Amino acid sequence: MLDKLAVADALREIGKLLELQGENPFKVRAYEAGARAVDGLSEDLDTLVAEARLTEIPGIGKALAEKIAQLYTTGRVDLLERLRGELPPGFPELLRVPDLGPRKIAALHAALGVASVAELKAACEAGRVREVRGFGEKTEKKILDGIRRLETRPQRTLLSEARAAAEALVAYLRSSGLAGAVEVAGSVRRWKETVGDLDVVAASRKPRELSAWLAAWPRVEQLVARGDTKTTVRLIGGLSVDLRVVLPEDYATLLHHLTGSKAHHVKLRGLARERGYTLSEWGLARLSDGSKVRARREEDIYRTLGMQMIPPELREDEGEIEAALAHALPAGLVEEEDLRGMVHVHTTWSDGHATLEEMARAAEAMGMGYLTVTDHSRSAAYAGGLDAARLESQWEEMARVQEKVKIRLLRGTEADILDDGALDVPERLLEKLDVVIASVHSRMKMGASEMTRRMVAAMRQPVFKIWGHATGRLLLEREPYGLDMDAVLDAIAASPAAIEVNGDPHRLDLEPRFIRRARERGIRFALSTDAHSVAGLQNLRYAVMTARRGWVTRAEVLNALPAAAFARAVRPVC
Ligand SMILES: [Zn+2]
Ligand SMILES: [Zn+2]
Repeated sequence: MLDKLAVADALREIGKLLELQGENPFKVRAYEAGARAVDGLSEDLDTLVAEARLTEIPGIGKALAEKIAQLYTTGRVDLLERLRGELPPGFPELLRVPDLGPRKIAALHAALGVASVAELKAACEAGRVREVRGFGEKTEKKILDGIRRLETRPQRTLLSEARAAAEALVAYLRSSGLAGAVEVAGSVRRWKETVGDLDVVAASRKPRELSAWLAAWPRVEQLVARGDTKTTVRLIGGLSVDLRVVLPEDYATLLHHLTGSKAHHVKLRGLARERGYTLSEWGLARLSDGSKVRARREEDIYRTLGMQMIPPELREDEGEIEAALAHALPAGLVEEEDLRGMVHVHTTWSDGHATLEEMARAAEAMGMGYLTVTDHSRSAAYAGGLDAARLESQWEEMARVQEKVKIRLLRGTEADILDDGALDVPERLLEKLDVVIASVHSRMKMGASEMTRRMVAAMRQPVFKIWGHATGRLLLEREPYGLDMDAVLDAIAASPAAIEVNGDPHRLDLEPRFIRRARERGIRFALSTDAHSVAGLQNLRYAVMTARRGWVTRAEVLNALPAAAFARAVRPVC
């Protein structure tokens, strides 16, 4: 059985391979649309397949529904197997070259016989690509740059993708009935922004059977190595998985060991030694006689060393060991259940994909008490930003929707921070706004000192604002702005302002080390999703875990307040 993500990936691959074969664009687009529809499903795929209701989803017709059902239940679909067989094996890799779509690949293949990245690189270097019709010297250089970037890019995966794969894998392994406990360890368990590979730990007395069970998972592309207690596989899409199988009594210590981080463990080992123990992947043992200290849970390891239990997401050697020894870890680290309101969402009024009512109902279904509707401001013209007149019409619609839902709707805007640090907020409506999020969406490449001046000026505006996706980074895609973070944090601490922790898996911004520097200054936070769709609201947990990695407690989170108190705390005109 495939999960949602894998089904969507397979549909996307079918679309690209069809395009490579010169199939008609409507058919190609149908698969892309189908992939997006499956990605964005809020309902369980299992139920939809079982009840044969896939065609009820907009964008999914009868033919596509059959393929999705086949993919979901068998892990394979004949069309994809056939397409893969018909095309040269180097083609899927060619699709990964930046700026090189299926149409260009097909043209290059026809003209030069290019069928792999290596061949394409050689053709570019020999100046043969520029001779092909429709390509020039500039395109050739762009392709070559793309290949070089592909070659040097570290093989990292976004946390959200790794977690989706890990959760599906853990569920699959549990369903074997062969393992007592199964968990993912490593950086996924510490909620690091990007992940190298998956480390999974299982407690079982039948390691060989469990390893065979893993190898039979439909999402496994290749069995790399199989030993008595360790199996390595590569998943479709390239993610590598190490499964370690141990006896139940060794499970907690191995899970602890493989969770890391390395720096945390190095310090912990030194500490264990001072206290008369050795700590290794086999657990704690007494230095005096080598006898093992039984650890049934990770808590037992920390307790034996005389310290508080340290949650996985804090294990980075950034002061957590010292704090745990002093029994001074922050109490009441924020949890998803603490959040009462959804802050920062977009609707079809600007660049969102769901209507205001759909977003309201979805947030209400998640148990939220309020929702701040924050579409883009007028200077974000590319994103359909709202001018004053449209903002007022949006409020009329909000009033109509408010009649139908229980969740309280708050009037907001995601105001652009302009070049000089002014906020793009309609002056005459300021009094009537409940929430202002202030973000940069333009001129992101200005120098560090200019960017610092711009942000400091913005934060000092006499309007309460929440600093949105603070550093502008897009993980694996775009570097954060160069700026003097301490100068901006000082300005925020002295101004009517708070900071967003943006849970969009591509952003996870502000990052934990800066969050901690903000906390030292007494700054408050809003944990948001920046959702542009109903599915995007589910990213709230990424905001929560990023905040926890920065040691944020419930008391420091504005949207852990009930609606009225939140509205008072963030009222723009103070
Ligand atoms: Zn934004
Ligand atoms: Zn936004």
